[in-house]
Amino acid sequence: MQFYSTNDPSHKASLSEAIFRGLPADNGLYMPEHLDPLPQEFFKELPYMSFAEIGYRVSRHLLGDDVPDAELKALVYDAVNFPAPVIKLDNQRRVLELFHGPSLAFKDFGARFMSRLMGYFNKGNDKELVILVATSGDTGGAVAAGFYQTPGIEVVILYPKGKVSLLQEKQLTTLGHNIHALEVDGTFDDCQAIVKKAFLDQQLRKEIRLSSANSINISRLIPQTFYYFEAYKQLGANGDPIVFSIPSGNFGNLTAGLLAQRMGLPVSHFIAATNENNVVPEFLESGIYTPRPSVATLSNAMDVGAPSNFARMLNLYGHINGLNPLSPSTHADMRETITGYAYDDATTEQAVREVKDRFDYIIDPHGAVGYLALTEWQKTHPNTRGVILETAHPSKFKPDVERILGHEIDVPKRLSELEHREKVAIPMGVSYEPVRDWLREKYG
Ligand SMILES: *Cc1c(COP(=O)(O)O)cnc(C)c1O
Repeated sequence: MQFYSTNDPSHKASLSEAIFRGLPADNGLYMPEHLDPLPQEFFKELPYMSFAEIGYRVSRHLLGDDVPDAELKALVYDAVNFPAPVIKLDNQRRVLELFHGPSLAFKDFGARFMSRLMGYFNKGNDKELVILVATSGDTGGAVAAGFYQTPGIEVVILYPKGKVSLLQEKQLTTLGHNIHALEVDGTFDDCQAIVKKAFLDQQLRKEIRLSSANSINISRLIPQTFYYFEAYKQLGANGDPIVFSIPSGNFGNLTAGLLAQRMGLPVSHFIAATNENNVVPEFLESGIYTPRPSVATLSNAMDVGAPSNFARMLNLYGHINGLNPLSPSTHADMRETITGYAYDDATTEQAVREVKDRFDYIIDPHGAVGYLALTEWQKTHPNTRGVILETAHPSKFKPDVERILGHEIDVPKRLSELEHREKVAIPMGVSYEPVRDWLREKYG
């Protein structure tokens, strides 16, 4: 399978180029060249397949022979080793729990698949590959857990001192082995600026093999298609159209749903659910796209003002170069399949309480935004089966959820046990040079 750039379809890359580069040189995003429906046998056999088998069949269909079957199967089975159960709220509404992985958020799927795929393509290299990432909290935890003990790969995570939660910090700083945390005396933006400088430092890049684990990497989107098929399998077909409601920030999850649909999954509609960072719902409504700085909300993993995957969504509806004016048909076609809704924090808090009171289910603030949007959409589309993507475990947002519900909530052991582990982080100032020197010393 070849991948092309959303800015220039004639710019092609192989799978390994696409995953190690992350971004094409023209600043577009990589997209798979072919998105064909899976064969009929796949859908016939789907009810009897395990989640890991679904992942293997879907990735083989998408990637072709870039990775030999046996290796691909081993890699996917290893990455997809936890379930994604569909929980019934009522006849119309279900929750797809995507938080059963090590860092308790759906990003585990992307990070685990990506690390194993990179590990595969990195084999035979004597020199280690160094993954450099900046995190404001959540991505770092998934990347740390996902790449933990991957042979030949070292991970260096930069995080802003005092600006991530205690448990988030423990997720970055207690694993050891190939995972290294640099505690930067600044903000997330400072961390990101340091990472950018490292990637632009040609001298450093001659000495060290650097790569990123950025959320725009195509290898993070591929495994996110698996659970749409898994949800469909668990729903069983009763003839009602299926709708997915997706709490969104950078719109990777929703884009993966669109890819699944192009691969033949019978989804009748997607709902783009956001907090007050509503540039995509606004675009769907008006046809005008106005990216802007994000505002802070309760569902903070969705605080994105310029969603990175929006270019991929447009591309799936025929738009080619990010610089060209949008054609009205792109907007019209997208609206046929996607409807957007946005909610403020007060409404989201009410929804967390409502879901607990009515269904005895504890939903996190991100999932609650998805619940609101699905409920609103079903007012005019009652005979549908809706699935809300629950993107994180509520205990990841424990203080907020406990304040909203007025009682304590359970924390899964894999998170709570981190509290007692010893933090190991390397203190860094706020400038680039000490980070560069540390990298050179260790890997140069
Ligand atoms: C990252 C994240 C999101 C947003 O997902 P996108 O793919 O960026 O739209 C939503 N919820 C949680 C809990 C997240 O961590």
